Amino acid sequence: MAEKASESAALSPILKQATPVLAARGEGVYIFDEDDRRYLDFTAGIGVTSTGHCHPKVVEAAQRQVGTLIHGQYTTVMHRPLLELTERLGSVLPDGIDRLFYVNSGSEAVEAALRLARQATGRQNAIVFQGSFHGRTMAAASLTTSGVKIRAGIGPLMPGVAVSPFPYAYRLGMTEEQASEYALRELDYLLTTVSSPSDTAAIFIEPVLGEGGYVPVPDSFLRGLRERADRHGILLVMDEVQTGFGRTGKFWGHDHSGTRPDIVITAKGLASGFPLSAIAAPSEIMDRAWPGSQGGTYGGNAVSCAAALATLDVIQNEGLVDNSAQMGERLHKGLRGVADAHPVIGDVRGLGLMLGNEFTAPDGSPDAATATKAHRIAAEKGLLLLTCGPQGNVVRMIPPLIVNAEQIDAAVDLWSAAVTEAVS
Ligand code: PMP
Repeated sequence: MAEKASESAALSPILKQATPVLAARGEGVYIFDEDDRRYLDFTAGIGVTSTGHCHPKVVEAAQRQVGTLIHGQYTTVMHRPLLELTERLGSVLPDGIDRLFYVNSGSEAVEAALRLARQATGRQNAIVFQGSFHGRTMAAASLTTSGVKIRAGIGPLMPGVAVSPFPYAYRLGMTEEQASEYALRELDYLLTTVSSPSDTAAIFIEPVLGEGGYVPVPDSFLRGLRERADRHGILLVMDEVQTGFGRTGKFWGHDHSGTRPDIVITAKGLASGFPLSAIAAPSEIMDRAWPGSQGGTYGGNAVSCAAALATLDVIQNEGLVDNSAQMGERLHKGLRGVADAHPVIGDVRGLGLMLGNEFTAPDGSPDAATATKAHRIAAEKGLLLLTCGPQGNVVRMIPPLIVNAEQIDAAVDLWSAAVTEAVS
């Protein structure tokens, strides 16, 4: 394994690297290091390279755009890739969501959605759920409760954020339905005791809790949020940064429950690795914001927009949403088999190609040590993975959506060997 990038003394240790790999190139589901060692990449750059590394169609579109117009700043001059992308996204966004704008990253899009929700409602507060991850910029960090490392030592954070329990059935020792009922009761209590509906602008939710442990939100919970949002005039914001663009086996994570969002945030899988994010809402909401109140120098970059258009083509032409559902099922089954052989894996869960393996000690407590060991050994064996969860005891798998059956089976074999070695 090539030495990790931190061999440069000037690189701040503030950036923590999950694997020791120094990537030289990427191709499809594989990363190659400088010694040309091949790794199965089941991280996809944290759910970004859904079309695989350097998909020829994305490369071609980006190269063409680089030679035409790299940066046409959208509040100065408009450009065709942005306009075309806006039309195309209109056809994949939920019904009734007919306006969108762009920034660069998930965190920026979360901030933008919060600003939009405040302007549209004239209210200040936001509600999030325990384990939420919405980003690292200051307002986004204020909405993030997946781990203190994001918050510690940087406060005071933004006021007006109320945190409600998440329906985490496995940790609560409940069925999904029980967990959903419990969390909705707690939300009602919070709206009665902490954040008055008349002060609450938005509820932020990830359709699958991501960094917080890869826990799908029960459909009944999302429907319950919709009902409360309607009852109280609160905007329901779906943070689809990680779950969008086919990741969960449907185009949007919220499609599983059929719940209508008021604002959708998307990034990551949108542009195959080029920085781009979008905030989408119905015109009744968007038109209440002040013109000029949002934007940024690089937002809606022309090369990123061209790459996003090619990404949409690839997702649609290669049937990647269906592939995500089918390969997700195959991976889920394989991981279930590994868990059945190793009681240290207490839960395997997820949707589509967004799957987590939760490690639990015999006394029921989170077992981060074994999870970390299995994650490290997997990388040594050639399978790149990530951990997540507040205690770091969930190993997640989030491969490119182009992954095939042979690659899934190879990953399951490597995972099985890694877990066997980690517990021996
Ligand atoms: N929201 C969610 C659900 C995410 O998973 C992430 C990133 N992991 C973000 C927001 C922040 O995105 P970024 O890192 O691009 O700022």
